[in-house]
Amino acid sequence: MRRIAIVGAGQAGLQLALGLLQKGYDVTVVSNRTADDIRTGKVMSSQCMFHSALQSERDLGLNTWEASCPPIEGIGLAVPAPDGGGKAIDWSARLHHYAQAVDQRLKIPHWMAEVTRRGGKLVIAEAGVADLEAYSSSHDLVIVAAGKGAIAGLFERDAERSPFDKPMRALALTYVTGMAPRPDYSAVCFNLIPGVGEYFVFPSLTTNGPCEIMVFEGVPGGPMDCWADVTTPEQHLARSLRILQTFLPWEAERCRSVALTDDNGILSGRFPPTVRKPVATLPNGAMVLGMADVVVLNDPITGQGSNNAAKCAAVYLDAILAHGKKPFDRAFAQACFDRYWDYAQHVTTWTNALLQPPPPFVLNLLGAAGQFPAIASRFVNGFDDPRDYRSWFLDPAGAEAFLAEQQKAAP
Ligand SMILES: Cc1cc2nc3c(=O)[nH]c(=O)nc-3n(C[C@H](O)[C@H](O)[C@H](O)COP(=O)(O)OP(=O)(O)OC[C@H]3O[C@@H](n4cnc5c(N)ncnc54)[C@H](O)[C@@H]3O)c2cc1C
Repeated sequence: MRRIAIVGAGQAGLQLALGLLQKGYDVTVVSNRTADDIRTGKVMSSQCMFHSALQSERDLGLNTWEASCPPIEGIGLAVPAPDGGGKAIDWSARLHHYAQAVDQRLKIPHWMAEVTRRGGKLVIAEAGVADLEAYSSSHDLVIVAAGKGAIAGLFERDAERSPFDKPMRALALTYVTGMAPRPDYSAVCFNLIPGVGEYFVFPSLTTNGPCEIMVFEGVPGGPMDCWADVTTPEQHLARSLRILQTFLPWEAERCRSVALTDDNGILSGRFPPTVRKPVATLPNGAMVLGMADVVVLNDPITGQGSNNAAKCAAVYLDAILAHGKKPFDRAFAQACFDRYWDYAQHVTTWTNALLQPPPPFVLNLLGAAGQFPAIASRFVNGFDDPRDYRSWFLDPAGAEAFLAEQQKAAP
């Protein structure tokens, strides 16, 4: 039986482990936190996942909360008018298939238990280099799926694929109950405040029931980069509401009766988006393969990290199964990552583009989407597979052609 060790019990590591266990592999998962630590700890993400990533979970029988988690049926965009009055841009479109966001504090502990239930081994330890060396001699393949953990530093930063060397946004999360629903259908309400940052909010399922997750993406040094002096959950909620009252009164209006889901339903932090080389060499000469956030860490502005982690797990699972009994060497590891990067590079390019001031042709498209539903729909449904943006949203000539097509077809 082939033996695989996976360091890191997050979306990527656990999804891969559970897929391998289903196929009869001998799997060890190493987590630096117990299931209880995670369940009772702070929120880690807003983890909104779109259709194809959710499908990769369904394929492995991991969609435990599909019936209880509120569906997210569309995405809306609003941009405040420069005079501080209403909205300069305001439109929404439906997703072809719903998205969902299950709090990782619910999902991860359950999946950890599922590893044991499916016959895998769960080790609670902070894996260091010596542990990786030990696993590399006892296992056929060692995968590092440790997210933003320090051990990711074993993998060399890929400067060509990492245009930023510092955080591009000050991030904050606020999980609340009692928010007024948007009319018509549920959606990610994405608000873009030029020069200040972005705020988006959508329904989710947390440890004590349905909630809404507020995500703040502040331009560093700007007025939404304002979390450093916040020391209590109450202050965090008050700061969240103050941002909305200042910049997005229509969102503040929805929050008249909100309360935190729990004292741990808050987070603030920042990190530089980073792509790393996928294969690292240990002092004993053995190699380890990186996966998901360890090797492709994007800013959450486009809500893609968990989606990427799920898709990375699906790609790595296929590659491992297809490799059969052949040795897991460097060539295998590089090829495995390259297959993932074929997809992930498009997510990274699009996400990095949104971290910079939009060029005029993008502003033009986002404005026109209010008039032409096909533009809004294509933009919204691209979140499920951002490869589509390459030919129009990221390409001035493609954008112009798509816009002209819509104008011509208009009555
Ligand atoms: C503010 C914010 C909002 C986000 N919103 C979204 C969103 O809406 N949609 C979306 O798709 N993504 C979102 N993301 C990103 C998403 O949460 C991550 O990309 C995703 O969780 C990555 O999965 P992973 O398995 O690679 O890593 P992780 O989920 O980080 O899991 C890694 C695990 O490894 C453990 N670990 C670390 N070091 C070690 C070690 N040495 N030994 C053992 N264990 C170790 C960690 O404790 C952790 O449990 C958001 C992220 C942030 C920060």
